Amino acid sequence: MSELSSILSHNEQFVETGEYAKYFTDKFPGRGLAILSCMDTRMVELLPAALGLKNGDVKLIKNAGAVVTHPWGSVMRSLLVSVFELKVKEIMVIAHHDCGMRGLNAEQFLEKTHEKGIPDDRIETLRNAGIDLDGWLTGFDNVEDSVRHTVGLIRRHPLMPANVAVHGLVIHPTTGKLNLIVDGTVPDSDGHE
Ligand SMILES: [Zn+2]
Repeated sequence: MSELSSILSHNEQFVETGEYAKYFTDKFPGRGLAILSCMDTRMVELLPAALGLKNGDVKLIKNAGAVVTHPWGSVMRSLLVSVFELKVKEIMVIAHHDCGMRGLNAEQFLEKTHEKGIPDDRIETLRNAGIDLDGWLTGFDNVEDSVRHTVGLIRRHPLMPANVAVHGLVIHPTTGKLNLIVDGTVPDSDGHE
């Protein structure tokens, strides 16, 4: 049985009993914060708990590796929407140790697509069409370097205002301990941080 039916039956009860009431908030993040993090399952509850965040505090964007791979892709657009439409003043990129994107290898990935029945000639057609599958399916070697790279892409984006702070951190997926990699604090107009 798929998870769908058990989720739908839980949901029916959740709504009926009014359990949603304790989560009520609005769409503006109360802490003025957007976080880009990894989709890793260990951080579903750990990340907000370790940072002391509750419903309504933050715009939380997740993908594999906590990376921005393209300046005009959906992650970057989400961050810009957070800033311009949703009053975000501070952005944190939070990757983690032991990430599945560390060492992701295009060759091994494409062996798996082959095993799942994706025909090799389709892969060849994509390559011939100019799609850089090998680059797209390659992860990072070093999590700190990846965080610095993504923070740099966000910071230097031509539509990102200079007064938005962009920080980079790495979290431990078991203890939740944060290591600060990039402190992007923007000095205020008096020169104070
Ligand atoms: Zn990860």
